[in-house]
Parts: sequence; C-alpha cells; structure tokens
Amino acid sequence: MAFRKTHPSRATEVAVQNDYRKYREQLRADFNCRCGYCDDRDVPRAERFEIDHFVPQKVDSSLGTVYSNLVYACRSCNNSKRAKWPTNNPLEHNNGREGWIDPCDKSYADQFERGNYGEIIATTELGKWMYNELKLWKPQHEILQCYEEIENSIQELRSRLENCNNAYNLKIFLKLYEKKDKILYRLYI
Ligand SMILES: [Zn+2]
Repeated sequence: MAFRKTHPSRATEVAVQNDYRKYREQLRADFNCRCGYCDDRDVPRAERFEIDHFVPQKVDSSLGTVYSNLVYACRSCNNSKRAKWPTNNPLEHNNGREGWIDPCDKSYADQFERGNYGEIIATTELGKWMYNELKLWKPQHEILQCYEEIENSIQELRSRLENCNNAYNLKIFLKLYEKKDKILYRLYI
C-alpha cells in the first residue's frame, strides 16, 4: 500500500512573519492536518503537533522564519528529528544513505510503504535511515492508521444504510459504535 494518500504542498504566497509560530494555521492546512514525516492525522491531538525546521536552526539560523523550511510535525517526529543533519551542509539534504527529504517533495513518499495493518515500511536505504531516526516503528502510527480506516469504513457504511430499512442489526451496531468514545472513556475512570 502507498505510504500516504495525499501529498503536502506549501502555499507559495504566504505573508512573511517574524515568528515562525504565526504560520501554524497555514502550515496545518498545507499539510492536510497531518504530520509531514509519519502522515499521522492530528485529530484528536492537534495541540500535540508542532512546527519543525526542516533545515535545523543550528545548521542555518537564517531559515528560522522562512515558510518553505517549515514542516507540520507530530511531537514524536519533531522530538526524534531535532537538529540531526548528517551532511552539515544546509544545501545538501542527504547523501543518498543518510539525511532527509523534504516531506513536500513527492520522492519522500517513495521511501516508504504501508503494511496490511497500517505499519510503515522503509523501502530504500535512505528510507531506513529516516525510519530509525524518526522512530517510525512506534505502534502509534499503525494504530492511528487503522483507526482512520475504520472511521472511513463506518462513514461509508452509514451513507449506504441511509436509504435501507432492512438493516436493523447494522443500525444497532452503528449506534453502539457512536458510543465508542464513552465506552473507551470508562476505562480511565
Ligand atoms: Zn510524525
């Protein structure tokens, strides 16, 4: 399976800001509300998403507020990437074996695939390096991917059932599903 269904794309005409945090809503929209690195959706934990400097500020401080250098990223990926930049050259993103690809570059998605359970699989040497550095093996990525697939399936089922009067059991199931968050919440009481 393909690593991601949609590719992030930064708007080119963005008003220049003096603080990179002011780009957050624009960046979130351009990244389709997903982490650029692992493709996790930010729902329901958008407050835990951060702004990554693709070329770290330690490597090139002049890119600190440059929009084209920013990546919408989950806390896990941002914390894992930090200031790692193997080439030490801001113009050289990787050397083919180690380093990074800008998530907005379509070739980023060529480094990975998805397994049957939504797990991320690195398919190239550079992909394996990024996989290890970003800790893309963490279970949260496949759990969120499965959760999203279930949601999409339920949504499709719901729309198919709208005009169907003979699907009593399925309608009961849907009612139970709608209570899922309440049921889950009871685990924490
Ligand atoms: Zn991530």
